[in-house]
Amino acid sequence: MLLRARIVVPVSQPPIADGFVRVNGYRITAVGKWTEAENKSEAEDLGEVILMPGLVNAHCHLDYTDFVGAIPAPRSFTEWINAIVDLKADVDDAAHRESWLHGAAQCLRHGTTTLGNIETRPDLLPELWAATPLRMISFLELIVIRANSDAAQAVADLADWIASHKPPRGHAGLSPHAPYTTKPDLLKACAATGLPLAMHLAESVEEDEMFRQGAGALYERLAAAGREMADCGSGSPIEHAKRHGVLREGTLAIHGNYLDDDDIRLLAENQVSLVHCPRSHAYFGHAPFRAEALRAAGVNLCLGTDSLATMRDGDAKLSLFDELRAHREAFPDLELETLLQCVTINPARALGMAGQTGELTEAAFADLITLPFSGPVGNAIEGIINHNGPAQAVMLDGQWEVPSASSAAHA
Ligand SMILES: [Zn+2]
Repeated sequence: MLLRARIVVPVSQPPIADGFVRVNGYRITAVGKWTEAENKSEAEDLGEVILMPGLVNAHCHLDYTDFVGAIPAPRSFTEWINAIVDLKADVDDAAHRESWLHGAAQCLRHGTTTLGNIETRPDLLPELWAATPLRMISFLELIVIRANSDAAQAVADLADWIASHKPPRGHAGLSPHAPYTTKPDLLKACAATGLPLAMHLAESVEEDEMFRQGAGALYERLAAAGREMADCGSGSPIEHAKRHGVLREGTLAIHGNYLDDDDIRLLAENQVSLVHCPRSHAYFGHAPFRAEALRAAGVNLCLGTDSLATMRDGDAKLSLFDELRAHREAFPDLELETLLQCVTINPARALGMAGQTGELTEAAFADLITLPFSGPVGNAIEGIINHNGPAQAVMLDGQWEVPSASSAAHA
């Protein structure tokens, strides 16, 4: 298959005016200028569009999609935790499936082709995986707080499950939920599996207080729930993660809203990627995100949507374009190329998919999207970042999963 577009944005190289992408099976075999394409007979001209890689969303909870607008912005993180625990209590299997699939469809329509998702129901996951074309990087959540729970067994059970279950596209890993909902032996057991990990870290001021000072509302709530609190009061949540082995290459830190210079140095030294969720950050009213310091330290920085349960807008969608605009508003001096990398190449690397997705390059998966665009090639990246709403068309593995109106007419 040979695709021609007025502008091709490979991300791994500068935008190409009048470009082409050749696809063979489910992989890209060549990218370049139309004038240099060989054997043009079977070309499909996509016209006035930007043709670019599908976006990579490093952090989401698809099962919370139908909670959009259900929790008004809370006064504290602990208050939000209480609200989400209440909401989740009413979710049966059918509601879980529906919400997950609504979210997956929304991600796809808005141009995401690879998704890092936190999964709470491995028993339902194989049928959910089969029902979406998305390339899923599914992190199976572990919440184990009681001193007498067998953390090693809980990790071994999920690792066994992962060894015998694989999504049609993508792979699975583990998500020890957060420092406050896990125990040290659980973190050590997760690290020892060698599996990809994703963990909420340094998300709230209450979590920071719990670990640095051994005090505060979250500390009190978890102590009352039966958590052994001897691991609190000896440094930041990031130091806690380091102490118990989970700060390592292949770990994705989620949020990092409360980081001091030592925390940032630890993330960089240990090759941990970090995913920032701009709209979730705004919903909670967190302290300013330390994007510049993280970039200067060399941390691989990604943008994610988080879930729709942490959006101010009741009509919010799981769209990385909305996160791009929110991040740009907060950091107006950020270079546009750097911003685009946060939803393409960087999260691909964070999810263990470097060179395979998030860029149009030879041998990468043919995961592509088109956006309508009639401006000059020099404004293409600006055009991507200003894009609002669904993508025009979405391809995964060389198949149009969301056909554009015009290519649907051809079919
Ligand atoms: Zn999350």
